Amino acid sequence: MRFEELPTPCYVVDHELIERNLKILNGVMQRTGAKIVLAQKAFSMTAMYPLIGQYLSGTTASGLYEARLGHEEMGKENHVFAPAYREDEIDRIIEICDHIIFNSFSQLEKYKDRALAAGRKVGLRINPECSTQVGHEIYDPCSPGSRFGAKRDQVRPELLEGVTGLHFHTLCQQNSDDLATTLDAVEEKFGEFLHGMEWINFGGGHHITREDYDLETLDACINRMKDKYNLQVYLEPGEAIALNAGYLVTSVLDLHQNGLDIAILDTSATCHMPDVLEMPYRPPLEGSGESGEKPYTYRLGGQTCLTGDVIGDYSFDQPLKEGDRLVFGDMAIYSMVKTNTFNGMPLPAIAIKYADGDCKVVREFGYEEFKVRLA
Ligand SMILES: *Cc1c(COP(=O)(O)O)cnc(C)c1O
Repeated sequence: MRFEELPTPCYVVDHELIERNLKILNGVMQRTGAKIVLAQKAFSMTAMYPLIGQYLSGTTASGLYEARLGHEEMGKENHVFAPAYREDEIDRIIEICDHIIFNSFSQLEKYKDRALAAGRKVGLRINPECSTQVGHEIYDPCSPGSRFGAKRDQVRPELLEGVTGLHFHTLCQQNSDDLATTLDAVEEKFGEFLHGMEWINFGGGHHITREDYDLETLDACINRMKDKYNLQVYLEPGEAIALNAGYLVTSVLDLHQNGLDIAILDTSATCHMPDVLEMPYRPPLEGSGESGEKPYTYRLGGQTCLTGDVIGDYSFDQPLKEGDRLVFGDMAIYSMVKTNTFNGMPLPAIAIKYADGDCKVVREFGYEEFKVRLA
């Protein structure tokens, strides 16, 4: 079907743009020997996993369910990290994951031997205590009081026996200069342990597919760990895989007025684009300008009862009218994975747009998805 014929609301992921991102990531792998896995937390669209699996080394998970998804839908390398594992889940995790990363020495002590006995690679998440993002504490695992990773003074060397890799994840939407800074801290604090390791995982938060991303510095960072310590380098970006590669198509349901013009859309910030409120950020909207930039400005709001269910103020060349379709950009990452049915909002359909412009709806949702979550 054509893009204009898609039902709304609908997430549309652009096959060509995903592949473009994957080629950039695969280029890093080819040039450096690093392995890149998809952090499913950001993007778990299984319909795209066969394509992603052609370019990347596998998946990483934040727990059992994502680990199962990677195992069932991609079936390549399957890494996992969780702040703590549950006793009733760890055996299944060990069964389906090849790299198991622990957050603390107490977790290592509890589960390491079982993972090793199953032939799994065991890693430790470290906290290099190096914040490279300011004013962004909920996305900074090195912020004071963070629950992530073992600090240098918590290391119990006797428990590192059998641990073959170190993992850090400290970045969020950052460029490779911040990675280089972080590596300095990692070497300064944990360098003595790196010589005995086989691999290092640089985590996610690398905005590798962003236009201004400095690939040369990334390559140099990887080569530095490879040459100095003979390590296999892993990266596990989420955002970079689907950055700017998806849309949320919505329709105008009604127009309203309260000191300013308001348009009610068949979507919801809090249900379909929660990061707009949580992060927060202003999603790009095709053909629109900032408030007041074009002649007709509207506040775009959602269908729920939440007063703050507002996407933002946008301006247009023409007045909006009922039935107009609005296309929000950069809606693949951290949107589909975070949807909810608060207030009985339906979930958007999910579609793929192919290079020739043809679109295919791969999943639609209804009342059942709202009902099964409650009892
Ligand atoms: C969130 C997360 C990622 C992916 O981060 P992006 O910002 O989406 O690249 C990778 N690894 C870990 C441990 C994470 O928590």
